[in-house]
Amino acid sequence: SLSKAAFGVKFDGQQQQQHHGTAAAAAEPAAKRPKNGLPVESVRRELLYLVESHATVVVVGETGCGKTTQIPRFLHEAGWTADGYQVVCTQPRRVAAVSIAQRVADEMGVAVGTTVGYGVRFEDASNQATTRIKYVTDGLLLREMMDDPLLTKYSVIMVDEAHERSLATDTLLGLLKKVQRRRPDLRLVISSATLEVDRLVAFFDSSTVRGKAAAAAAAGGGGAPSRTPAVVSIPGRVYPVQHGARQSSSSSGSSSGRRWRGATGTAVVSIPGRVYPVQVHYLLDNCSDYVQAAVQTVVDIHREDVPGDVLVFLTGQEEVESAVRMLDEEARRLARSRLQYKLMAAPMYAGLPGAQQRLALEPAARGVRKVVVATNIAETSLTIEGIVYVVDCCFVKQRAYNPIVGLESLLVAPTSKASCMQRAGRAGRVRPGHAFRLCTEESWQQLLPKASVPEMQRSDLAGLLLQLKALGIDNIMRFDWLAPPPAEAAVRGLELLHALGALDGDAKLTPSTGTLLAELPLEPQLGAALLAAATRFGCCQELLTLAGMLSVPAVWASPAAVGGKRALEEAKAKFAAAEGDLVAFLNVHRAWLEHGKSHRWSSRNGIHQHGMLRAAEVSQQLCRKLKRMGLDTNSSCEGDVDKVLKAVTAGLFMNAAQFDHTEYDPRASSDAGSNVYRLLRHMQPGRPLKLRIHASSVLARTRPQLLLFLRCQQNDEGWYEMQAVTAVEPDWLTELAPGVFQKL
Ligand code: ADP
Ligand code: MG
Repeated sequence: SLSKAAFGVKFDGQQQQQHHGTAAAAAEPAAKRPKNGLPVESVRRELLYLVESHATVVVVGETGCGKTTQIPRFLHEAGWTADGYQVVCTQPRRVAAVSIAQRVADEMGVAVGTTVGYGVRFEDASNQATTRIKYVTDGLLLREMMDDPLLTKYSVIMVDEAHERSLATDTLLGLLKKVQRRRPDLRLVISSATLEVDRLVAFFDSSTVRGKAAAAAAAGGGGAPSRTPAVVSIPGRVYPVQHGARQSSSSSGSSSGRRWRGATGTAVVSIPGRVYPVQVHYLLDNCSDYVQAAVQTVVDIHREDVPGDVLVFLTGQEEVESAVRMLDEEARRLARSRLQYKLMAAPMYAGLPGAQQRLALEPAARGVRKVVVATNIAETSLTIEGIVYVVDCCFVKQRAYNPIVGLESLLVAPTSKASCMQRAGRAGRVRPGHAFRLCTEESWQQLLPKASVPEMQRSDLAGLLLQLKALGIDNIMRFDWLAPPPAEAAVRGLELLHALGALDGDAKLTPSTGTLLAELPLEPQLGAALLAAATRFGCCQELLTLAGMLSVPAVWASPAAVGGKRALEEAKAKFAAAEGDLVAFLNVHRAWLEHGKSHRWSSRNGIHQHGMLRAAEVSQQLCRKLKRMGLDTNSSCEGDVDKVLKAVTAGLFMNAAQFDHTEYDPRASSDAGSNVYRLLRHMQPGRPLKLRIHASSVLARTRPQLLLFLRCQQNDEGWYEMQAVTAVEPDWLTELAPGVFQKL
């Protein structure tokens, strides 16, 4: 049916995707499905029984089978939310937490924030009195542990998408295992793809042997826990269960109701899948521009193939928006041709406002082919109905960490084979589907790693270590990790915390800085700048504004929204400041206030109104937090920007970069040879990092001698491109970070 030869982008023949062990399910897809129900319904009773009788239940099932939306609700209906308890479900991604809460609230016929709520950083849509089911980011639950280390308001904690191995989820699992020992009444439900199940079971099982509660329960149940696996039979597959805990749980339970009954042991539930085969196609020749190739592939699918929606995977917001723009243009051209069937492109990425996300998530109108262009947030956490075609660029934007210099960056890299398989799987949910990978099969086999590297292995750990210290976990190398972080990264993280004054000589939190810093929901460096502004430099208001603007995905409009990169640059120029992006941000903010926060004004001036409103919200929350710490938040620099820049220096000094004169080439165009910087604290011999100012900066065309940057992104030529940069004086570095910089 598919005549690929006619395509502008040429794909080879067809290959069956090897789905992890679901071949049988693929053969008789709809048969096992209860009428009108999701696959998870078929294991409801067994699941509830296992949660009742085991401390930890690991749930495995295909994306879309109903784990995330249904399991918390089952638990709620089964009484786990009685007596004021809540059931909480963690998500590695903010968008997922918000949109899933919305979906579940819709399904239950309630408003978000009532029975069903969510909590993400800087945004709480829940109510302690009425909310029973709560979706939160993994990072937020980690933060909640600072106020309530045993997470006492929750009866069941569902850790979703554990296979993704996000930094916060990995850490949470270690912490929750400790909590379980103190709270035998707590239940954990962990959902994972098949890939990580064995590791998770082994991890939690060891706690049933080591944990105090388990020992007590085992003693009550008669003797040491047996190593003979018990078997719990459930529809679908049968898994052995370690140390069957039925006896011990009932014998150790007190009479005060189920809530207080302890349980031990780990069970696994596998939800019978419902997957159709997916044919995988590879390019005959590698493409040089995968955005272009993706658009062409979609157009070809639309021209040639039968109805069915398309899901395109790209790496970031800019790519997504430019692909959507190109598809809109194609759609207009196609509409003029004789094609009846319309094409509609919808973007989906993390910073997208909720209303626009709905366009991607909701079914398209009749006679319209929906093309969702997404980042990897659509890989597992969000379910988009009706997808029959997947177009996969086979790349992903992710964190990378250079432990030698202690620098975290964003990097677009080949994704893993496992995640490509996940992505392809999205095409086989409704009927047999097709996945188009935008590279040759050879490249795919050779260049893609088998599985993704856990985030723990490629992140700056300073913020995480700070939080663990605040939770009383001092020796992080002895912490019970699902997989320990690299020692080098841990050392770098501790070094940074030292330099910021958060740790003393014994690596204990300092009461003045460390404890306060741990409480602020900001990266340690930005948090340190904020504290310095409040306590030393008298510019708290300005730093609150900046912290807000730097904590939202975007305050500038996207190039697409203002009519191109050029137009955006012109808009930015109106607010530009010689000092750099941070002062430009303050200019934007002031003008925005002067114009009454007007939406019209924003859209005319290249400002992202939604981002500004969110930023203002964040500033207010941070302000309340500082007040609660007893700090004076009213100080303002009254136009003396040096104060602001000094406060920023007090936090960001590790990210100081110096213009490299040796690389200066006066004949070079502004983008080439003359834009070379060196990380200041990395002057020792060896291969220096190649730094330069990112094109989005207001300083992109100037060359300050010394600057600080907040973030950086690696491009495919290996350059570290610095974003949110600001020029500073060398004296400030030696004055504010004498331990790191001697007189230059
Ligand atoms: P899982 O967590 O197992 O991947 P979910 O619980 O997220 O599955 O989704 C279960 C089902 O609910 C999906 O197959 C889909 O039919 C439906 N669904 C989930 N979210 C949405 C949404 N935002 N819009 C429409 N349908 C949805
Ligand atoms: Mg899910």
